[in-house]
Amino acid sequence: MIARVIVDISTSDVDKVFDYLIPSSMDLHVGDRVKVPFGRQKTEGFIVDIRETTDCSHPMKEITAKLDDFTPVLPEMIELMWKMSRENNLRLVDVLRLFIPAMMRGGRVREIKRHFVTLADGVTYEDALSKLKANAVNQRGVLSRLTDGGEWAAVLGEEFGFSAVSALAEKGLVTVREVTKRRRPGLKPVQDKVVTLSDEQQAAVREIMHGKSDTNLLFGVTGSGKTEIYLKCIEEVLATRKTAIMLVPEISLTPQMMGRFRARFGDKVAVLHSGLSDGERYDEWLRLLRGEAVIAVGARSAIFAPIKNVGIIIIDEEHDGSYVSENNPRYVTSEVAEFRRAYNNAKLVLGSATPSLETFKRASEGEMGIIELRHRINGTKMPQVEIVDMCAEIRSGNNGILSAKLLEEIDATLKSGNQSMIFLNRRGFASFMICRKCGKVMKCDDCDVSLTWHKQDNLLKCHYCGKPYVVPEKCPDCGESDMRFGRVGTERVVEELHARFPSARLIRMDKDTTRKKGSYDEILSAFRSGEADILVGTQMIVKGHDFPNVTLVGILDADMSLYYEDYHSAERTYQLVTQMSGRAGRADKEGKVILQTYSPRHYIFSFARDNDYLGFYRKEINIREVTNFPPFTKIVRVLVVSESEERALELTKSMLFKLRAYQKDHADRFVMVAGMKSPVKRIENKYRYQILMRMTRKDEKDTLARVYEIVNAEDKKDASVFVEINPQNMN
Ligand code: ADP
Ligand code: ZN
Repeated sequence: MIARVIVDISTSDVDKVFDYLIPSSMDLHVGDRVKVPFGRQKTEGFIVDIRETTDCSHPMKEITAKLDDFTPVLPEMIELMWKMSRENNLRLVDVLRLFIPAMMRGGRVREIKRHFVTLADGVTYEDALSKLKANAVNQRGVLSRLTDGGEWAAVLGEEFGFSAVSALAEKGLVTVREVTKRRRPGLKPVQDKVVTLSDEQQAAVREIMHGKSDTNLLFGVTGSGKTEIYLKCIEEVLATRKTAIMLVPEISLTPQMMGRFRARFGDKVAVLHSGLSDGERYDEWLRLLRGEAVIAVGARSAIFAPIKNVGIIIIDEEHDGSYVSENNPRYVTSEVAEFRRAYNNAKLVLGSATPSLETFKRASEGEMGIIELRHRINGTKMPQVEIVDMCAEIRSGNNGILSAKLLEEIDATLKSGNQSMIFLNRRGFASFMICRKCGKVMKCDDCDVSLTWHKQDNLLKCHYCGKPYVVPEKCPDCGESDMRFGRVGTERVVEELHARFPSARLIRMDKDTTRKKGSYDEILSAFRSGEADILVGTQMIVKGHDFPNVTLVGILDADMSLYYEDYHSAERTYQLVTQMSGRAGRADKEGKVILQTYSPRHYIFSFARDNDYLGFYRKEINIREVTNFPPFTKIVRVLVVSESEERALELTKSMLFKLRAYQKDHADRFVMVAGMKSPVKRIENKYRYQILMRMTRKDEKDTLARVYEIVNAEDKKDASVFVEINPQNMN
């Protein structure tokens, strides 16, 4: 028989399938990893097909060895590999590597196997002793240890020598059983809350499990009990002997959240995330593959969990940016989820209080069902949101970061013994320019996105069309010369708070304070247990944390994400404000949100204040349609990176030339095609150029295939080229 093998070497010239002979002594299956001779060396590879014949004209080599005692890649995943490779223009082996723990390659991590020795069935200690010669001291020693139930071979071997154990086994007096020891991520068990689902929750479960759509958007306000719905659906799925995949954004994978799953489902849950050690990760993955665990809970990559017979896939906080991978190999989690749903004839649930525009559009067009939850559990009210105009604040003489209103509310919250969370979005790295007087933000004339300041050439530039603008000395609207670049940090907020409220206990949470493993959880549990009065933080504090004593949420500089140089700014800001507000007043206490902004009249804020997602959606989708932005178009970026600027430029020009020619012949498929330097011109000493395209969705698969063809045909010596679709981040 012939095995078709993909070798585990990631270069373009070996990205194909090679034929090898299967030695008759070897029992091999599609999906097995094997060792094969390749060139002058031996390398690892994956069997993706087994056939009787070959088209190969030269003599074939034989497979040298089988690497695992199980089949690591399921047939489903082989099919997925072909699809992802084709549609996302990925190397086959890069896709396969997504499916297995990294450390498995090269045998850098293994199962821990131990041997347990007991007296053989029906053999008593006395029987066994009577069969031994008088001088078999060590064998006698071993037996004396087995009388009370058995012992590890390693322990016996150390004391009496392994030959004594095997001699007894050969005589049939003892049995040696292989036991696998699993490395398990330590999880503090939380008490499983037994809840009775509300009518609204029960109806949602019924619709997900037995409704007419296999895919549903679970659109429920924060605190509406979505997690309980997921748990119930998973329970139903397990009862039919099927399996489940539950995805959450990496940042929400808190011990509290995983504890909830562990408390409900015990050992049936395996977790997959980046915080695990290599051994833990491998063993959790193996527990799934071997069917010891049937629920995979994890971040994005858990969508590749090695489980058969998937009954349900849940993507919580589906709008979260972390579901689109930014590094190679780039993929979109929901597309993989849709493939696995269809393959397994399973259910798919996308949950969010603030669905992405793309998802909501698809749902409103009937591509999936919508299940709406309008109320918080126990009738807890949505928090009251107050918008503070920071321009007015400046006019009244307050130049600080915190408005008078926010300070007053913090004070009141401190006095009442409750907790506050202050959120600051520090993502506005590449600074936008704003007038401190009237709040005018400099924008591109052509694209309606805010301009980004490029320090190197002191210009403002549009990240969508590349058009440069001179940095204005005065505000073009009100004539004031008080233009500034928006940027403040969490440290300064903490300083200001400390100056104002010297006795308040403050904790800061951002990338700097959470570098150490475990520090993230430490900060959160310290805050939960009341060790601090105020938590100041970035994005990290936004996600799904349930703090019963938080009654005040402050959002500083909400504009930062609004004017982040990106067409999704408004969408992101809406999501952020809503998620952040969701932190206030979770238990029986009412919550309040103070939202500071330089553009209080921006439509985002009133929709967010009124919790009017639909209003926001209608307004925003309209703008996207008129301005030709996603989901009505696709933004495709071809990024060229090279240590030589000349080389990057040359390659960009060459592809741009071909893409323009294609655009000319298919004018109705493009809104624009432009080449330029990347916003961040040099990263890690490599020059970055890009071609930006906006494609209409007409024949988009064909257009994309042609783009890939053009990119692939290029000689990429001394350079790398990446194609990104609707990139989340445009540096
Ligand atoms: P969401 O994920 O929609 O924000 P959660 O599922 O986290 O909401 O639920 C919010 C809180 O309400 C949690 O503390 C949860 O335990 C509780 N809860 C959910 N459903 C019920 C219920 N039916 N009865 C009582 N408490 C519930
Ligand atoms: Zn522009």
